[in-house]
Amino acid sequence: MSSKLNVLKYYLIYRYRKFGTSDDLKKFRDRKLKKQLKFVSENSEFYGSYKGKSLEDYPIIDKKIMMDNFNSINTVGIDKEEALEFAIGSERTRDFNPVLNNITVGLSSGTSHSRGIFLVENTEQDKWAGYVLAKFLPKGILSKCRIAFFMRANSNLYESVGSKNITFEFFDIYGDIDKNIDKLQKFQPDIIAAQPSVLLIIADKVKTGKLSISPEKIISIAEVLEKEDEMILKKAFQKDIIHQVYQCTEGCLATTCKCGTLHLNEDIVCIEKEYVDDKRFIPIVTDFERTSQPIIRYRLNDVLVEKKTKCPCGSVFTALEKIEGREDDVFVFEGKDGKPVFVFPDFIRRCILFSGNITDYIIRQEKNGEITVFADIDPTLRNNVIIEFEKLSEEKNFILSEIRFNNYYYDKKRKLKRVECLKQKN
Ligand SMILES: [Zn+2]
Repeated sequence: MSSKLNVLKYYLIYRYRKFGTSDDLKKFRDRKLKKQLKFVSENSEFYGSYKGKSLEDYPIIDKKIMMDNFNSINTVGIDKEEALEFAIGSERTRDFNPVLNNITVGLSSGTSHSRGIFLVENTEQDKWAGYVLAKFLPKGILSKCRIAFFMRANSNLYESVGSKNITFEFFDIYGDIDKNIDKLQKFQPDIIAAQPSVLLIIADKVKTGKLSISPEKIISIAEVLEKEDEMILKKAFQKDIIHQVYQCTEGCLATTCKCGTLHLNEDIVCIEKEYVDDKRFIPIVTDFERTSQPIIRYRLNDVLVEKKTKCPCGSVFTALEKIEGREDDVFVFEGKDGKPVFVFPDFIRRCILFSGNITDYIIRQEKNGEITVFADIDPTLRNNVIIEFEKLSEEKNFILSEIRFNNYYYDKKRKLKRVECLKQKN
């Protein structure tokens, strides 16, 4: 079992570890990398032949490579089929207590279609809990704090945080929303962590007086928080900052600082940047801490936007303007010169924003390249959307595909993505 004392230990380490200059951070990172690569080359069969090499010599991998080589990458001798069966079993029965050989096994849904498995061992779990607490507890670990956590599955990972002062309450996002709201009313959370789509429902209940709570902190997790949704949440909860955790099974990659800026957590991960333009990049993640399932040069398919100005908080960690979304969700059109034209989700989103007051929408590029806009809007607004797309196609020099409109709808079982592309790119 995970130990509360360990969580406290890591909490203190993370909370009070400071880096004065980028040089301090670099030295720290180099030391961590050296140690981690030594461990990995000695314990993971997949990396056995990289002993003594530096990070740049290691292969860049992705989800597919990770899953294809699951057995030889993990250092705890867990078989992929066994882990998969185990994880599916615990999701199905919604009993999340059992662990396999002392290892928490979880399924990652991701937004893409392939399924991933993640392994977390007890010490890693304590570190994770310590880190999250260090980043988010408003008054420190010794004050009472009630945390409402909305998740699709209650992993052991999240329960390890509970203690005398800290109460962690799990809310199943598949559960009945009215029951969840009642439970929230009774629980009176100090912190709510949930995906933006759930936060928006809670905000609406607060606005209409059906729920009366006054949380100190709102944390957006799991989905991309769009600017316009962020504004709605700030207003409903009367907060200057909506905190964000950019977290995937590959680790806790970025969190919001006291000034409201997202920073990469460069004290626990090393992030190499594969630039796609002057400020957008795809992160390649190496985690300093994960040992059961090492994460070495793991290329995510997200696009992050770097902030060029310095954050007033003084942190030496890379500041982000935002998480733009999946690389997969870049739209692709046929250029007027016959070459493909790639359009970032941000530009697509603006076609909606500039059209008028549209709060709930999803724009999807279908497999055949056509565009579907899911939004409950009248013909005037529909026409505005078309005009905005026409402007965009002029600007970017592409042939505009057909645009269809449909009522607003999204599948609660999947992550909410306002801009999504199903078209294959090659
Ligand atoms: Zn900052």
